[in-house]
Amino acid sequence: MAVRLLIFGRQGAGKGTQSVLLARHYGAAHISTGDMLREAVANATPIGLEAKSFMDSGCLVPDEVMLGVVEERLARPDVMAGGFLLDGFPRTIGQAEALLGLTPIDVAVDLVVAEDVVLERISSRRVCSSCGRIYSVSEPPTRAWICDTCGGDVVQRDDDTPAAVTKRLGAYTSETQPTIGWFDGKDVLVTVDGLGTREEVSARLISAIDHARHA
Ligand code: ADP
Repeated sequence: MAVRLLIFGRQGAGKGTQSVLLARHYGAAHISTGDMLREAVANATPIGLEAKSFMDSGCLVPDEVMLGVVEERLARPDVMAGGFLLDGFPRTIGQAEALLGLTPIDVAVDLVVAEDVVLERISSRRVCSSCGRIYSVSEPPTRAWICDTCGGDVVQRDDDTPAAVTKRLGAYTSETQPTIGWFDGKDVLVTVDGLGTREEVSARLISAIDHARHA
């Protein structure tokens, strides 16, 4: 049966990498609102032009904009066929309420990593400007800063500057933490420890999700 999953996690918690693996595992559409917005900015679409200044300064893009983006995406055939894994949405209680008006959710996962660890990870994070694959200074692509998957340029994100990161972590605490609590109140939340190797964390996530789906 098609899965309907959400994944939460602080900036640098490994949510992006893990959500790609999870979506593949469950045959679900991986929907990253951050990736969708970065693509919109790169293509200078009306939504990209509207979102860019919010993103560069580390602020959340307004709910009305996000809801339009997500509603349109959830209506596509791949979601109908295999379900979805939402990465980076919802981040406010308003977004959460609107989402549940569109579709039910099976499980919401909170991938938890301590703040001092994430700060270190973000400063060394690099991302493919073409396909979004994530690397780091300690795990670079095979050829210097050329993506192993698509050949795109691997760069530091525009919003991975110290000022924007601080702002994003603040928005996470003030807006997204209460949203996670809201899902806990609906009994769909599971918490997973995000420390460990990619494989360890991935196995932990799958086991927590399977357990919650069959509970
Ligand atoms: P991070 O989790 O590191 O902040 P994302 O790639 O998920 O990065 O998002 C990058 C930026 O895109 C955010 O700082 C915000 O400006 C915007 N964004 C993405 N998803 C949302 C959302 N659900 N609501 C509001 N803004 C969003």
